[in-house]
Amino acid sequence: MHDLARLLMATNVIHHPPSPMSSDPPTIPPPTNDTPVKQKLPPGMVMGPDGKPCKICTAFRNVRRTKQPGSTTKAGTNPSSNSSSSSSKTAGMAATMAALANGTSIPKKAEPAVPSDQPPAHCPPDVEVLGRSTWTFLHTTAAYYPEKPTPHQRANMISLIRALPLLYPCSNCALDFGEDVKVNPPDVSGRVGLSRWLCERHNEVNAKLGKERFDCSLEKTDERWKDGPRDGSCD
Ligand SMILES: Cc1cc2nc3c(=O)[nH]c(=O)nc-3n(C[C@H](O)[C@H](O)[C@H](O)COP(=O)(O)OP(=O)(O)OC[C@H]3O[C@@H](n4cnc5c(N)ncnc54)[C@H](O)[C@@H]3O)c2cc1C
Repeated sequence: MHDLARLLMATNVIHHPPSPMSSDPPTIPPPTNDTPVKQKLPPGMVMGPDGKPCKICTAFRNVRRTKQPGSTTKAGTNPSSNSSSSSSKTAGMAATMAALANGTSIPKKAEPAVPSDQPPAHCPPDVEVLGRSTWTFLHTTAAYYPEKPTPHQRANMISLIRALPLLYPCSNCALDFGEDVKVNPPDVSGRVGLSRWLCERHNEVNAKLGKERFDCSLEKTDERWKDGPRDGSCD
């Protein structure tokens, strides 16, 4: 067992997220003098190895859910307040009117806002953004890995995979991934084997999170991560 896993198991600080169906109230009861201090975490919030709620282990929507309606940002503004959206609407309308008056082209509408359950683009990643980006990197790297890698390339790929459970910042993700890799050693023999192995590891996480399994045939992994669909919609 690697050091991080041993440390986490020994200190027993990893708390997996409760079921999304849980109706537990999102409160942290205040400690009293006669009861041991035991934080009750809000649904979806994960405890980190330092004994504090782990932000990078938690989905943004679960962090947001725990915030009181009307709560303010660090700058003291309310992000959901109507004033900013109405002022941007007014600005957009003014730009359109000016364009019509000047005979210039009407400015394009701004890109639709990021769905509210995802962190805004300028914010640090949550567990989902980090996961999506990491899977994108890993599957794409596997798709372009040589058919017949040199011993040096194999060794580097092994190092990359073995480093993940040690370095991945979502501690409970890292722990479970490390356990899975121990039971299912990486296949670095070539891109076919590696793509399948990685797809199966991703499916383990999908199963844990109640998501659909992906078809791990080379045809499907290549379509998703290298060639795009036959209809040419990604060309
Ligand atoms: C090593 C690792 C461990 C993780 N562990 C946890 C965890 O314990 N708890 C947690 O909440 N989150 C974990 N995550 C994050 C989680 O896997 C997702 O990335 C996150 O929930 C966002 O999911 P998503 O639905 O956007 O799609 P993702 O699961 O991120 O997948 C991105 C895209 O990959 C494709 N895809 C899906 N499955 C496969 C597959 N099997 N093979 C190839 N392509 C596929 C799909 O097109 C999908 O849209 C982990 C991520 C990583 C990299």
